[in-house]
Amino acid sequence: MNVLLASSEVHPFSKTGGLADMVSALGKALARAGHEARVVTPLYRGIRERFPQMRRVDWHFDLPLGDRHVQGALWSLEMEKGLTVYFIEQPGFFDRASLYHEHNISYADNAGRFIFLSKCTAHLARYLPWRPDVVHVHDWQTALVPALLLQQQRAEEWGNPPPTCLTIHNLAYQGIFPPGAFALTNLPLEFFTLEGAEFYGHLNCLKAGIEFADGLTTVSPRYAREITTEEFGHGLDGLLRRRQKQLLGILNGVDYDEWNPAHDPFLARPYSVTRLAGKAVCKLALQQEVGLPEGRGVPLFGTISRLADQKGVDIQLAALEEMLNTQMQFVLLGSGSSAYERGYTALARRFPSQVAARVKYDEGLAHRIEAACDFYIMPSRFEPSGLNQMYSLRYGAIPIVRATGGLDDSVIDFTEDTTRANGIKFYEYSARALAKAIRKALVLYQQPGLLRQFQRRAMKTLFHWEQTVQEYLKAYELARDFRTRSLLS
Ligand code: ADP
Repeated sequence: MNVLLASSEVHPFSKTGGLADMVSALGKALARAGHEARVVTPLYRGIRERFPQMRRVDWHFDLPLGDRHVQGALWSLEMEKGLTVYFIEQPGFFDRASLYHEHNISYADNAGRFIFLSKCTAHLARYLPWRPDVVHVHDWQTALVPALLLQQQRAEEWGNPPPTCLTIHNLAYQGIFPPGAFALTNLPLEFFTLEGAEFYGHLNCLKAGIEFADGLTTVSPRYAREITTEEFGHGLDGLLRRRQKQLLGILNGVDYDEWNPAHDPFLARPYSVTRLAGKAVCKLALQQEVGLPEGRGVPLFGTISRLADQKGVDIQLAALEEMLNTQMQFVLLGSGSSAYERGYTALARRFPSQVAARVKYDEGLAHRIEAACDFYIMPSRFEPSGLNQMYSLRYGAIPIVRATGGLDDSVIDFTEDTTRANGIKFYEYSARALAKAIRKALVLYQQPGLLRQFQRRAMKTLFHWEQTVQEYLKAYELARDFRTRSLLS
């Protein structure tokens, strides 16, 4: 099968969150299962310098964007057999310091930037000599592609465009812009209705994707159910209920080429489930790196996160405040809302021998924290899939998670199954409930035999992409069936 993927971020070229990891791993898994995957993504600043082996393709984009035309060039890089990445070069849009915003302020032309990316994707889907069997887009930044393809079929006599599939990685980010931005799509006004891209008078890119994609997926089964409810639906639950038959929840897999403590170039010492000694070395090395007193015996907790409301920062700060009177250490790596950044740095200043906060984005440090920690805290309000709890399972850092979305689907609590328990769950969204879960972790830490058992089970809990990719192939089939049926009706 030929699969054209499109995403605004792809690891290792660009990343702000799990989207980048997932698209990169899905592309690889498709290729390794014998399919051919090509990924369309922007050529952001610095990528060409870091990947000098990429080649310029003899291709030129000259696409309408409202009442002007925007030009672009195309670069490609073959990652491995069956996996090629296409980079859209448009310096005005993508040669910037950041992907989406600077100093917490979104770029004013984000609508134009990502409508252009969507148009380039639709253009490649139609005109590349390589014909995709399915076009799989991700999140709001490329969610207009299905509408663009539909329009090409309706008005521009493209007999049979490939079926489309949209994956929702996070319903909270919908790409909502003032109504004037709709003109940038150059779609006819019939697309800007209640059953189209219009949302309370604004352009909503994700909504357009949910309306027009043939297949829909989201990144865990529980989140697929949650987003059809008012509580988690961010205003789109009615539409999602209407399209529920096309909506599949597929839990993300993990790229174990990247996340494996036995072969991780970022770690002080490798380790595995049968040779755990290296984990203690990693703990001491991290304590030294972040300036915490070195000690094997003190339980070390960690979190790596975008600092956004979604991630439960408020209850985490309050719970830590309460728990830091016990013997424990906590290390944070994250960036985002400046109030939350200040919250963690203030905590680190007040408890310098117990808390270290690193406000930045640092891939190597993220790996070292997973390896060093005894426990990993992820108290999200909602969590579509979550990857860090899966990484921490693999690294033997017992996850403490709130039972929501993918966190609930990937972690097993003692109360659910005593023989398979690999983490600690709490249910109520409150600092009190999180503090109680941390207290449970401290009790577990005092019982080395039981702790080891949890750790072993955690490290053996695997989320292989070989299985996950089969579910995506099913989703593509479902999208194809839906397309065929809608063509016939
Ligand atoms: P989300 O996509 O909502 O941010 P996920 O848990 O699905 O959350 O994925 C987050 C990804 O981003 C993980 O790979 C995580 O390690 C990484 N990450 C988040 N913040 C940082 C940071 N400050 N430094 C390095 N990696 C980070």
